[in-house]
Amino acid sequence: MRNKISFSRTLLYFQELKERNNTFEGNRVSLLLLQATVLALVVSLAASRAPGQAGAGETVIQKATEQFESTPLKTTAIDKGLFIFSGDGGNVTAIVDNASTLLVDSGINSRVTDLNHAIFKATGRPVTRLVNTHWHFDHTGGNVYFGSEGVTLIAQENVTKRLSSVQDVPFTGIRDGHYPPQALPAETYSSSMALHQGSQQLTLVNYGPSHTDGDTVIYISPANVVVVGDIFSNHVYPIIDLASGGSIDGIIQSLNEILAHTDKQTQIVPGHGPLATRADLEDYRDMLVQVRQRINGLIAAGKTIDEAVAAASTQDFDPTWGGGYVTPDVFTRMVFSSLAKTGSASR
Ligand SMILES: [Zn+2]
Repeated sequence: MRNKISFSRTLLYFQELKERNNTFEGNRVSLLLLQATVLALVVSLAASRAPGQAGAGETVIQKATEQFESTPLKTTAIDKGLFIFSGDGGNVTAIVDNASTLLVDSGINSRVTDLNHAIFKATGRPVTRLVNTHWHFDHTGGNVYFGSEGVTLIAQENVTKRLSSVQDVPFTGIRDGHYPPQALPAETYSSSMALHQGSQQLTLVNYGPSHTDGDTVIYISPANVVVVGDIFSNHVYPIIDLASGGSIDGIIQSLNEILAHTDKQTQIVPGHGPLATRADLEDYRDMLVQVRQRINGLIAAGKTIDEAVAAASTQDFDPTWGGGYVTPDVFTRMVFSSLAKTGSASR
């Protein structure tokens, strides 16, 4: 976004100069130079960027926000009365009963109107409850809107704590929080909570700090669907929110729990990306275990965080996992910091 803003500001600046220069014949040469500069800027921007693709050197949040603002919203029916809305941030799941829609996550703030239209078009029923899988902006952006409409917000108790004040996520550029009271969860739980929506039973579980300290995994039965939030994105390296209690060990532990409570037929709704299977989740867990082992080895050998990045320990996984908004470098830094923090290197 920053590029777009600064680019349009640059154009405005040159437009002003051009108007001024038109009154001074002698400045024709400098005007031509300026026009050539603008042209070069346009060409370099166009060359460095395919549509919807992130520019180099951007933070995780810049890349992610560009993607979430420009991706068309897609509705997928995954079971009778179960829908996924994707594109406008984290995946949004809707579960319908005779009179209402229960939502899991609420996308980014700037696309909540799109999302609300898509939900009503698919379900034909008003949203009455909204569960947040965790506090990040791309999963809670619609909270202000839905909370203001009287929707009951539900989450693990630490989500309320995080959204109540400004939070920074290291290595990502994410700075968010201090939401108004109506956007904060009114119903919270600590380790598990049961909800019913029509014929579906929802079991909300927190397996301890993982992606953040307030992650909720939602088992939906009998549909045999699990919504896992950003513990797993398909296929993007995970963000490990170190300031909110997240850790690589915690993510792996949560994945082991989810794998133990699912079967071959379970449909897994990731935080981002297409619907997945238990086998996809297993591959992802195995990748994380291997990366953890490699980076632990580097820490044990006394390497610094920059040396760990230079060692490119994720190289063989990068074609599958490293093409999204979390680059291999950023992922390596988060894993290294997480392991250095918890002292896993000595284990
Ligand atoms: Zn997240």
